[in-house]
Amino acid sequence: MTELASLTISAARDALDAGETTSVALTEACLAAVEGAGALGAFAHVTPELALERARAADAARAGGDAGPMCGIPVGIKDLFCTEGVASQAASRILEGFRSPYESTVSAQLRDAGAVMLGKLNMDEFAMGSSNETSVYGPAVNPWKVDDRSLTPGGSSGGSAAAVAADLCLAATGTDTGGSIRQPAAFTGTVGLKPTYGRCSRLGIVAFASSLDQAGPMTKTVRDAAIMLRAMAGHDPKDSTSADLPVPDFEAMLSGDIRGKRIGIPREYRLEGTPDEILALWDRGAEMLRDAGAEIVDISLPHTRYALPAYYVIAPAEASSNLARYDGVRYGYRAPLSQGDGIVEMYEKTRAEGFGAEVKRRVMVGTYVLSAGFYDAYYNRARKVRTLIKRDFEQVFDQGVDAILTPATPSAAFGLGEKGQADPVEMYLNDVFTVPVNLAGLPGISVPAGLDRQGLPLGLQLVGRPWEEGALLDVAEVLERAAGFVAKPAKWW
Ligand code: GLN
Repeated sequence: MTELASLTISAARDALDAGETTSVALTEACLAAVEGAGALGAFAHVTPELALERARAADAARAGGDAGPMCGIPVGIKDLFCTEGVASQAASRILEGFRSPYESTVSAQLRDAGAVMLGKLNMDEFAMGSSNETSVYGPAVNPWKVDDRSLTPGGSSGGSAAAVAADLCLAATGTDTGGSIRQPAAFTGTVGLKPTYGRCSRLGIVAFASSLDQAGPMTKTVRDAAIMLRAMAGHDPKDSTSADLPVPDFEAMLSGDIRGKRIGIPREYRLEGTPDEILALWDRGAEMLRDAGAEIVDISLPHTRYALPAYYVIAPAEASSNLARYDGVRYGYRAPLSQGDGIVEMYEKTRAEGFGAEVKRRVMVGTYVLSAGFYDAYYNRARKVRTLIKRDFEQVFDQGVDAILTPATPSAAFGLGEKGQADPVEMYLNDVFTVPVNLAGLPGISVPAGLDRQGLPLGLQLVGRPWEEGALLDVAEVLERAAGFVAKPAKWW
């Protein structure tokens, strides 16, 4: 029965429509899988009663002829989303015990479309990281294994990626500030889509870097990403950065025909030190798209090399401001105080004990680059660089390029504890191919495209024009089909 958890959204929808299964059966299968795969650390909080209640409601709605697009589909929700009455902790000690009094717009829209939340998924603390190791819950583990080494599922949406790859749920939400949907998707052989900035509401998503954060679907197939994005996206009057644009039927835009489309290959992404097999996969991806009738063109994004340094100024700056609200008064954790401690000691002790090391590093870097003496030298400079990076992409799209193909990550999944211990920059380098896309606010998707020599998944990234997720998904589906990625990790349940 647990096999039902292996279904894609579209297959489950067909089975539900045909009366071959029920949401309750799907949900029970997923809950059993979650229980059997506890060693993965993918879920931080499981909500079985709530899930079964929603599943029963979904089955009733379907019987009454009122089935929304995600009706009865069991999904996991990243712990960064506020979910009413359910622990919403952003994988941080400082939000210990916090139960949100309201639901994030994205998770509310999914719920209203009939999706069944199974629980909250592990992640890096406040979405800061690329390996899920900064989580207060401990790391999530990649279901793919080599030599019995425990590998990271990537981050920060590591729990989401692990849960989808291991068939603990049919799909999951993620968020992506610098790569946190696409990099974990690449590390786990799943599909991860970061929409255009503003496509999904940020209301109720714990803020990391507000000008970069964007929610998106993490799924088993490109088609599922199209289905789920439609349910997640849309204008929200309560988020002034969400776009007042119609949300098309992305699934209906999957034509399978990309003849005549121009796919750009940016020469600046051919970085020294990138493993041969990543470069070879990139070349193969371009060939696949050419064989499908697309025109492959050489393009230049000249400011690419400044993206990572600019991101690691802007993101910490915004984070330091956003995280000022955690003071021990309003949310979650408050440190025990000693006789004579005043409010300053309360703030200091709470923040010292409540935040992990990486979060503190970001707060300190962010405060530094925003300080009066250094604002122009760092923060303002980084903002100018950001404009140049955005312009690079605009020029390429103005030249008629429809989408850009790049590797998703500079390596396959690495071992837990292997990177960033001595030098955090080693970890930051994971984002080298994904971060420019956030700085420019563009949609990007990672598609599983092959295995490395050790048998671990590798992803290719496609970047699209703003608001054209439909066209991007169309190219991504052609790539997915041509790559024929069918490998799966061994079952964990
Ligand atoms: N790994 C990047 C960081 O640590 C991106 C994280 C994200 O996209 N949330 O900031």
